Amino acid sequence: MAITIKSSREIEIMRRSGAILAEVEGRLLNAVQPGISTEDLDRMARELIEKHGAKPSFLGHQGFPKSICASVDSEVVHGIPNTVPLERGQIVSIDVGVLLDGYHTDSAFTVGVGPVSDEVEDLMEVTNAALLEGIQVARAGNRVGDISAAIQVFVEELNYGIVRDLTGHGVGRQLWEDPTIPNYGEAGTGPLLRAGMTIAIEPMITLGDPETYVYPDGWTIATVDGAPAAHSEHTLLITNGDPEILTKPGATVV
Ligand code: MG
Ligand code: MG
Repeated sequence: MAITIKSSREIEIMRRSGAILAEVEGRLLNAVQPGISTEDLDRMARELIEKHGAKPSFLGHQGFPKSICASVDSEVVHGIPNTVPLERGQIVSIDVGVLLDGYHTDSAFTVGVGPVSDEVEDLMEVTNAALLEGIQVARAGNRVGDISAAIQVFVEELNYGIVRDLTGHGVGRQLWEDPTIPNYGEAGTGPLLRAGMTIAIEPMITLGDPETYVYPDGWTIATVDGAPAAHSEHTLLITNGDPEILTKPGATVV
């Protein structure tokens, strides 16, 4: 599939989709506390998204049974929400997609359930910072490899693991579009970034070895060594200058 350049009409829809998503994530972030289950968070997300006349992108996507992905501790991504109460000291990565008027946006964050250890706090901070490193070079004229290399260099200098089995991606009419955006690679290589492209950048970072496996549920991806993993993601619009972060917290739903 070719990389698509969005029209101003499509971009306007994606701005609204992203603003809804940012609002939902803000609510979920505030709701995470010991005792709440990921199924509670899932229900909250679905209700909020539907209240805005949108749909959860993930619900039914390739058969996924829930509206959000919720991945706890060593789970990296694609965790299926369940009724198990979250416990103090755990971390949970929450990934949400919003489909509005035919266009998806996609974003994820990781948060501690109450206070967490310093090393896990650092892991979450590094993951956010890695996303920002990628965002900073995501502009027209650069290449996908510039994003990949910026993330890889930053993360590996700090001796964290980069999950390689999953990548960022284009996003729009489809939840996953071209180009693929790995979190490792060489600067100056890969597809050219052009104004009007909409992409999701999403580093998945581990405290230990980044090798992963899939649970018997067929969805949940977790680290083989059981070390914690964090995930941060934004959908952005490529421009000739700084990218516009469509899922930025604090966006106003209009
Ligand atoms: Mg996502
Ligand atoms: Mg994504």
